[in-house]
Amino acid sequence: MTIQKISSFAAGQWVQPGQSARIIKSAITGEVIAKAGNDALDVQSMLDYGRDVGGPALRAMTFHDRARMLKAVAMQIGKHKQALYDISFDTGATQSDHLIDIDGGIGTMFVFASKGRREMPDGHVYLDGEIEQLSRNGTFLGQHICTPLQGVAVHINAFNFPVWGMLEKLAPTLLAGVPAIVKPATSSCYVTEACVRIMLDSGLLPAGSVQLISGGTGDLLDRLGMQDIVSFTGSAHTALSLRSAPNILQNSIRFVAEQDSLNASILGADATPGTPEFDLFVKEVSREMTAKAGQKCTAIRRIIAPEVQVEALIKALSARLDQTTIGDPRAEGVRMGALVSESQKRDVLEKAAIIGQQAERVYGDPDNFTLQGEGAEKGAFVPPMLFHCANPDTSDLVHCTEAFGPVSTIMGYRDLDHAIQLANRGEGSLVASVITRDGNIARNLVMGVGAYHGRIYFNNRDSMKESTGHGSPLPHMVHGGPGRAGGGEEMGGVRGVMHYMQRTAIQGSPDILSAISGTWNPGAQEIEGTEHPFTRNFGDLAIGETIHTASREISLDDIEHFAEFTGDTFYAHMDEEAAAANPFFPGRVAHGYLLLSFAAGLFVEPNPGPVLANTGLDGLRFMKPVQAGDSIKVRLTVKKKTGRNEEYGEVRWHVSLTNQEDELVAEYELLTMNAY
Ligand code: NDP
Repeated sequence: MTIQKISSFAAGQWVQPGQSARIIKSAITGEVIAKAGNDALDVQSMLDYGRDVGGPALRAMTFHDRARMLKAVAMQIGKHKQALYDISFDTGATQSDHLIDIDGGIGTMFVFASKGRREMPDGHVYLDGEIEQLSRNGTFLGQHICTPLQGVAVHINAFNFPVWGMLEKLAPTLLAGVPAIVKPATSSCYVTEACVRIMLDSGLLPAGSVQLISGGTGDLLDRLGMQDIVSFTGSAHTALSLRSAPNILQNSIRFVAEQDSLNASILGADATPGTPEFDLFVKEVSREMTAKAGQKCTAIRRIIAPEVQVEALIKALSARLDQTTIGDPRAEGVRMGALVSESQKRDVLEKAAIIGQQAERVYGDPDNFTLQGEGAEKGAFVPPMLFHCANPDTSDLVHCTEAFGPVSTIMGYRDLDHAIQLANRGEGSLVASVITRDGNIARNLVMGVGAYHGRIYFNNRDSMKESTGHGSPLPHMVHGGPGRAGGGEEMGGVRGVMHYMQRTAIQGSPDILSAISGTWNPGAQEIEGTEHPFTRNFGDLAIGETIHTASREISLDDIEHFAEFTGDTFYAHMDEEAAAANPFFPGRVAHGYLLLSFAAGLFVEPNPGPVLANTGLDGLRFMKPVQAGDSIKVRLTVKKKTGRNEEYGEVRWHVSLTNQEDELVAEYELLTMNAY
């Protein structure tokens, strides 16, 4: 069998393994299949290349450019995913595990691509929150903005998800505009390397935006500066040693850590045997124990159930785990593959023995289980192992020992407060799940365990068909947890992009803020031309382009006509006495919707032109009542433009309605689609 040479990609060149390369064995057969690592790797030139070539190229693109790039890269990986499936079996993973890793990674990229287009501007500056009014007359404002870090993101990944683990970090990093150096765990780096080759061969990524280290990182971390960032997934032990390095501390280098986690799943007291919830619980727990052979950062390590249900649960779980065929994941019918390596198997058995000091093994014997597939006896296989801890209050090891394999401990709780106490003894976890249909249980649990968990997953008969599973971190939702789980956060939609950007508070005049943000703010310069802005194409419209309309008086007839026509005969518009008794109104007032309709009548340009459609209205506020005899006029200003495709783009207009005293009566943002 040929031993594959797994290369690094450094400063634009593929670099083969060197003298010091480590060997990598198949998890299934124990045979040496590859080697990786090169002590002579020039990490300084990698950093320089990322900072000087990759960073500027990415920062020259807008968020939308980068989002489109992510989508194209994800499609490219999708086209070649069979090749990734084929080589992933050697990591011990089954075809369903590949779907989590490879398809899950591709899906994560698609979500970031879509969020980048929908939730971020087609520009270079991300606005975080609304304008802050810092002065009485509005000549001095505040705005938080985010701009990309100007260094390199170093991604250090765990062995268990060689593709998803890379892409869930890479997507937000590239969307932010920051180049990355990816360092996968050596034991499964051949899958990551193949995926990086697909991405680089596509030619879709600017030079320097993605580099790869297969093997050790040398003194890379000692060379990082304050614009760089480290995102780490792996053991708490490694995280602690890396994040406490003097260079990291001295330069306040961001260190996002996702590490050990003793995730819990709690069975609600309402979910008794015979209910759909009880069966669901058994299904979720056994799936989390066996998927990826339990090598998931989110796997359920502690099963917390009402004391009276413990026996029934052990029975039901054992029956379900009996259906798990273990062996070579390429063999027919195999449901659970191997651990990634012999050393991981040793580690899992050691940790299981530690748990065994305080809990009894009630299912699974590592010395006696059936394996499918020829030659599998040399692989890193273990069976699912279920422990029962009868005294979870006085046992500490079951709450702090993470056996990173198909190992879980069941423990009974007396009441909800006790369940909360037990869940929180994990000292900070990525996820807790709760199977209940009782809203009070759900609320009380959230108040009790929320501060200890990065994610809480509820499931019951109403959501089970469409639910995504306890163990699936979703790109839309935050993944990370406090305390033992590392204190970091990843993904969570645009929140995940922010880890790679600097938030800066900007203070200044409306014109200065508008120039920076590419967004018009009240008080900034208005551009008044001879043409109506509705006659101007998307590409020609300038931010700040404004019209001031003529004014229109509102009569009592108008109000009554509108009431009759629409059927809105609310007393505030129709009954003088009742309206006057209302503390908000001086007497009968015009309908808010009448004001909006008249405003459109005042500002609209009726002829066919570049305005294709009115797509919505945001932030509508009615500030002052309008009565018969009052007049209104409108100011309409181009606030922001967002290109959608080659044919049209969205224009966000700031609209303000004032009365005859120039007092603001209503304000909103109008959205239109305009042709280029
Ligand atoms: P490690 O912490 O040993 O390794 C994680 C990553 O860090 C790997 O890429 C590893 O590379 C790298 N690394 C290790 N030492 C250094 C160093 N000095 N400088 C730079 N990079 C370094 O974790 P493993 O992946 O081996 O998993 C071990 C245990 O971690 C598991 O048994 C489990 O308990 C826990 N774990 C927890 C996860 C979670 O999210 N909860 C996920 C995965 C693991 P290399 O492989 O080359 O050593």
